[in-house]
Amino acid sequence: METKYIFVTGGVVSSLGKGIISSSLACLLKARGYRVTIQKFDPYINIDPGTLNPYEHGECYVTVDGHEADLDLGHYERFTNVPTTRANNVTTGRIYQSVIDKERRGDYLGKTVQIVPHITDEIKRNVKYLGNTGNFDFVITEIGGTVGDIESLPYLESVRQLRWELGSNALCIHLTYVPYIAAAKELKTKPTQHSVKQLQEVGIQPDVLVLRTEKDITPEMRRKIALFCNVSPEAVIQSIDVNSIYKVPIKMHEQHLDEIVLRKMCVPIECEPHMDPWMAFLSKMDAATETVTIGLVGKYVELQDAYKSINESLFQAATYNDRKLRLVYIHSERLTSADVADKLADMDGVIIAPGFGQRGIDGKFVALRYCREHDIPTFGICLGMQCMVIEFARNVLGLEGANSTEMDHATLYNVIDLMEEQKSISNMGGTMRLGAYDCRLISGSRVAEAYGKTEIKERHRHRFEFNNDYRNRFEAAGMKCVGENPTTHLVEVVEMPDKRWFIGTQYHPEYSSTVLSPHPLFISFIRAAIAYKADREK
Ligand code: GLN
Repeated sequence: METKYIFVTGGVVSSLGKGIISSSLACLLKARGYRVTIQKFDPYINIDPGTLNPYEHGECYVTVDGHEADLDLGHYERFTNVPTTRANNVTTGRIYQSVIDKERRGDYLGKTVQIVPHITDEIKRNVKYLGNTGNFDFVITEIGGTVGDIESLPYLESVRQLRWELGSNALCIHLTYVPYIAAAKELKTKPTQHSVKQLQEVGIQPDVLVLRTEKDITPEMRRKIALFCNVSPEAVIQSIDVNSIYKVPIKMHEQHLDEIVLRKMCVPIECEPHMDPWMAFLSKMDAATETVTIGLVGKYVELQDAYKSINESLFQAATYNDRKLRLVYIHSERLTSADVADKLADMDGVIIAPGFGQRGIDGKFVALRYCREHDIPTFGICLGMQCMVIEFARNVLGLEGANSTEMDHATLYNVIDLMEEQKSISNMGGTMRLGAYDCRLISGSRVAEAYGKTEIKERHRHRFEFNNDYRNRFEAAGMKCVGENPTTHLVEVVEMPDKRWFIGTQYHPEYSSTVLSPHPLFISFIRAAIAYKADREK
């Protein structure tokens, strides 16, 4: 089968969930046996979101091959179980960088370099890159931003050209918003009509419309939208608010989104998608009545997207353990030894979040001391693991002022220190230790037991590391280094075996937990939290 290209654009407002719709369609196509990948094109000038702070852009996701990526790639993986790579997230910055490099090399043979055709050709080359590998039947391309943005124009022009070139091998899904005006008690279709007009003005006729709405769209409204937007009525699909994003694929399938797409792309429809494992997950989710309460200690707790992958990993693990997740955000900047008992006493487990810099760090130490002394199941991730090490050094080993050199250059006890390979680096973009590295676990450790194996590969995003000079002292006092990189001996996991569950990972397990393949460490952590809750209730 020739590769099919599906474009997903958005109109009216941002944050409509193009990523979830793209992921849901991919999930359905994958369940029909097709090889699918999703890519995101972001219209901003940054080369990647690695240099953007969470206030700007939510979580920075990391791919196996070490690309700092848009958080939508996390949804793509969670919904499809297909790993993404650097090629799945392209920004305007990267497009321009590549065109300018070519210009400097003389590749354009003296021509004037212009947005059309040079930038658009570069966009088109990138759109087709994954398709050309021969590894995929469907390439879904999500265009970031909203129709009408100045930044989006070169992308939309590229989509227009590709649709012209590819005929029925290309299709456009446009996502819009249908607001409900409470005073008039009415849903309004005008913004959708305007947004489709804008798309038509740049030469793109959408094949499918997905309407985000809080209330059901009536058949009459559907017909009206179809008529005014030049779309067949069955291809006007509503995406009504649901209590979990993981129900969206089912909602889309009920309205035949996958069939409509296949039909429009002239692909024979042979069977129904095999959604049994997915449905089993949803049934568990709906059936769960008991809760497990997890406290997440971090400094970005007021931003709902800053810890996206951790939230989703916890949710998946809770679901597989037949529990509803109650996630309590605890602001690390406002946590002190005076109120830590109040804030943490009801937690069945505590996560110490990743992060950068000094702000909020003291609250993490306070939380960790409390968790360690009260034997609460505790999971430190990246900076969270580093804080575990520092707190232990200060309060158990008695190394006063122990720190990471990230926070204190001059600390006497640099138990966390800059990695050797980082010392000569001054550029900020894409220069951390990024992506998947091998890790060997000590057999018999709790982590090894959780994974059920000792050779693992996990994704990283950091510059600092555990200082091996201190290893013996930590181990002698009860904090074991139970996972390390087999070649560099960087410590990847610490654990306190005499605690219920006290584990820190230098890597980010949350990047690789998916609906159909939840991460074993999160499963094990939630299990420990449930057991701890039961202990307390006894
Ligand atoms: N700031 C720490 C480092 O660079 C931890 C990074 C993180 O939590 N992702 O090593």
